[in-house]
Amino acid sequence: MRMKSLLFYSSVMFCFYACSIADSQPNANTDKIIETSSDSTDPNQKYNIDPNLSAEDREKVKSIIDKKYLMGKFDPLKDDRFAPIPANISLYPNNAMYMRKEALEKYRQMFDAAAKEGIVLKILSATRPFDAQKAIWERKWTGKQASNGAYLPENLKGKDRALKILEVSSMPSTSRHHWGTDIDINDVEPAYWSTPTGVKTYNWLVKHAHEYGFCQPYSKMGPDRPEGYMEEKWHWSYMPVARELVEKYRKDIQDADIEGFLGSETAKDIQVVKVFVLGINPECK
Ligand SMILES: [Zn+2]
Repeated sequence: MRMKSLLFYSSVMFCFYACSIADSQPNANTDKIIETSSDSTDPNQKYNIDPNLSAEDREKVKSIIDKKYLMGKFDPLKDDRFAPIPANISLYPNNAMYMRKEALEKYRQMFDAAAKEGIVLKILSATRPFDAQKAIWERKWTGKQASNGAYLPENLKGKDRALKILEVSSMPSTSRHHWGTDIDINDVEPAYWSTPTGVKTYNWLVKHAHEYGFCQPYSKMGPDRPEGYMEEKWHWSYMPVARELVEKYRKDIQDADIEGFLGSETAKDIQVVKVFVLGINPECK
């Protein structure tokens, strides 16, 4: 009885995250995957797949796990590819923040090199899973939290409402912060980056971040980057891992996969994947 409930629960939880994926790929084997390997669709157990499945079904499970990770539907605390950010490089040492291990290792090296030149590079935000991004998005969508300095008026509807939030926040499932490769440094207010300290810090990053594998995906908008988020001088991405994830995202995720939060029906109209996920600095591709 208890086991049956557990199996049912894990199927339901699996469904909460992945049914739309399964629905979009109708196949008689999908039920079998759910029945026989509900545990192995846990993205925290990367590719720990039931060996009794056929090669074809194993590939399907892998693809579901990868898609869930790309869309932030996993728990970085339970994922051994992730590590906690040490207090000395965090702006909020009392908040546990996580990063992909390779990215964190290189960030520590960059942090030390910058410190030697009197530059401070404290992380203020790192991995944010789907649920965390959904909470931010829905607070803004429902008018409980200001977005870019103002509460959204009630008469701003649908696509326009979503685009207003997208001036400063990602839609759940489309944030690079889901991946653990991207961090925000020092301050997310553009004004800070015009102060003498901000300018000095940014110039150091422009000159040296690439030596450690980091790139600024939301660069100044212009002919090279005509669409997407406004410039974010604080947001940097560890490209040796992120480059591969962007490519997977381009290949595997469609606007129809973006769902499970208020206003998600606008994703298609906005072309959120093309404009906001792929609309990045060409140097970060
Ligand atoms: Zn960011």
